[in-house]
Amino acid sequence: MKTTTKAKPTMTCTECDRKCQRFGKHRNGLRRFRCPQCKKTYTEPHEKTLGEMYVTEDRVLLALKMLLEGNSVASVSRITDLDKHTILKALVLAGERCEKVMARLVVNVSVKDVQADEIWSFIGKKQKRVEIGDDPNFGAASLVIATWHFFSGMSLIVTVRFS
Ligand SMILES: [Zn+2]
Repeated sequence: MKTTTKAKPTMTCTECDRKCQRFGKHRNGLRRFRCPQCKKTYTEPHEKTLGEMYVTEDRVLLALKMLLEGNSVASVSRITDLDKHTILKALVLAGERCEKVMARLVVNVSVKDVQADEIWSFIGKKQKRVEIGDDPNFGAASLVIATWHFFSGMSLIVTVRFS
């Protein structure tokens, strides 16, 4: 598992504009600093996982790895002790980042022998049961994944469409 080494800590007092000294740790593990002049204390800023989560990166990575191995959200929640909503939020944030990487790196690829797989499901109720006034997301939903197997064991997801 990836371990991050923290950068050399520096903190400047907002009152006196002086460089603060290390002053132990906060109970949440973040480093504390104290101004040598006014004795005001500061805590280093929170580093948010995936830009907006307070859960540690290690726990989020473990949850995402487990989801990739086919574990259900409920089982990941039980094992990692993370809330289901936290796991789903991490999944969405990671997915959005993957989408950006794909859009940036996978361009003008000439593919051949593309395999298209479709999975069909429904949200809330089946299409024929949807009534006027229901949630607009209710009804049939399908996910199509186009994959190009360009080398033995190596494949590239060319596109993903959800409707
Ligand atoms: Zn100060």
